[in-house]
Amino acid sequence: MPIVRRKTRKVIVGDREHGFVGIGGDAPVALQTMTSTYTYDIDATVKQINALHQGGADMVRVAVPDKRDTVALKEILKQVRVPLIADVHFHYERALEAIEAGIHKIRLNPGNIKDRPKVEKVIAACRERKIPIRVGANEGGIVERQDKGQRAEEKSALEQDYQGQMTAIMVEKLEEYLRIFADNDFFDVVLSAKSVDPEIVLSAYRECSRRFDFPLHLGVTHAGPPETGRIRSVVALGALLAQGIGDTIRISYAADPIHEVEDGKELLQVLGLRLRTEPELIACPTCGRIEIDLISMMAEVRRRLKQIDVPVKVAVMGCVVNGPGEAEGSDVAVFAGKHKGVIYVSNNEGVAEQVATVPEAEILDRLFEEVHKFADRVRRGEARLKNQKVEIKPPDPIGELGSGWGKIKKDGIALPVMR
Ligand code: SF4
Repeated sequence: MPIVRRKTRKVIVGDREHGFVGIGGDAPVALQTMTSTYTYDIDATVKQINALHQGGADMVRVAVPDKRDTVALKEILKQVRVPLIADVHFHYERALEAIEAGIHKIRLNPGNIKDRPKVEKVIAACRERKIPIRVGANEGGIVERQDKGQRAEEKSALEQDYQGQMTAIMVEKLEEYLRIFADNDFFDVVLSAKSVDPEIVLSAYRECSRRFDFPLHLGVTHAGPPETGRIRSVVALGALLAQGIGDTIRISYAADPIHEVEDGKELLQVLGLRLRTEPELIACPTCGRIEIDLISMMAEVRRRLKQIDVPVKVAVMGCVVNGPGEAEGSDVAVFAGKHKGVIYVSNNEGVAEQVATVPEAEILDRLFEEVHKFADRVRRGEARLKNQKVEIKPPDPIGELGSGWGKIKKDGIALPVMR
């Protein structure tokens, strides 16, 4: 069953030069990430943004802690073709400078900018340029720091029931922030409520989804390196997305952000929320029935698949037990039998046909000969891919709940970015 997405308002991020990305409404779930460079280092930042965009990021966020970062934004924006988001934490001036430089979205934590008139200045500037704002309540910075009485109260509540109380505090703070935006008649808002604890992430976003109709940016903060952060992130984000909750995601790792993009893309593709653009590999885990050295073959299969630009589904199975079944579900499949490989390819009617039986030493070359031939048939429109079960219609960039009308009309183009 396809996932039924929860209906939200929609914001539009981007411009004609950098492309448009919808968040919420009828737009597909957008994938974003954040650079790890110093933004003032223009060359390094542009290089990383372009690599992340090339890797599949629909939007890229950059930190702007200092004026030299916002000064660099103008030049960076000239050299990239993907919408950019400015991450503003303590200084509202950075938000105003980023807006002036042409940024497409602002990430703001009003909890860190206590002075309401300052937040209102940012809102006014965003309204004028039709720039959406993400309002975030992160577990790490949510407990009151300045008001001692309130801090003691919140700390004591957390001692009783940390997860429940933390969820309540995060959602309440978001509500409090949203009042400022509503009072200023500004609704181009995306919400986030991140935590390092997947259970808090689940409960906070479920509650946000119940209370608000703003699009939601999903994320698990400080998840750690990919080896440990992957499970943490996928448990929380996967569960929410499967319930139709979430309109844009960022997976956060203590690593090169390209891994965030790779894993985020795979998560969305596996859930059928994004069209697959590269080959899919399935392989058996191996067991005592194995009849070839499948494990050592895997690295080479993955390396060669990276050179294929068609989302072919390839199955590599260690024996005949599941081979025929997998051959039916894949475009190209090989299963082993007594140190030989039996290769199947999907014919023009989508039925698996046995095309070769080769000795173990020739499996890889013959398998890839068939993968290349199949990919060529797909390019010529002669073969149908089996893994394209999900049909994602290009979104209407405006939509009945959209708030991007003015922006689209102003830029004179209504083409969404679709991947
Ligand atoms: S396909 Fe064969 S070798 Fe692989 S896990 Fe299944 S039974 Fe074992």
